[in-house]
Amino acid sequence: METAKTYENFPAWIPVVSNSVTILIWAAGFVIMLRLGWVAAAVYLAFVASLEYRLISRHCVNCYYWGRTCGFGQGRLSELLFKKGDSEKFCSGGFSWKDMIPDLLVSLVPLAAGTFLLILRFDLLLLVALLLIVALSTAGNSFVRGSLACKFCRQREIGCPAEKLFSEKYKKQP
Ligand code: SF4
Repeated sequence: METAKTYENFPAWIPVVSNSVTILIWAAGFVIMLRLGWVAAAVYLAFVASLEYRLISRHCVNCYYWGRTCGFGQGRLSELLFKKGDSEKFCSGGFSWKDMIPDLLVSLVPLAAGTFLLILRFDLLLLVALLLIVALSTAGNSFVRGSLACKFCRQREIGCPAEKLFSEKYKKQP
């Protein structure tokens, strides 16, 4: 079986591409939630920010890439804001689909809201935002993880519960 090389520091273009996909998902989600009003859009952004804060403060601090350039660039950001944690803890908590629910809501909430609004009244911008969020949160994320980030990640080799969960899912597919 061919084993992909891993990066000590990812080349800068990889976090740029990875984050472009993520930021476009947030932007599409924001545009959709804005149709419900400024309060809904602000709550959506606050929710996204809280998930990023949780990731950088609780998980990135224990990752091999803390202080290095990872596939998403958060290892550098984590170094700027938080002290290095304990690499033993990166894998200790385990990871299940239940833990994924908050991250899934970043796409699912605007998807549900946008579909509901589109049924009530056709809106081209809303349709484009919905299509963008579907394409990026499925094919876009799968490309980023499978071909750019997780594939070349040294923490994956050391052990990553999230990657293990995803690869189990892929193994079950025919
Ligand atoms: S293997 Fe794990 S730590 Fe590495 S990029 Fe993927 S999810 Fe992040």
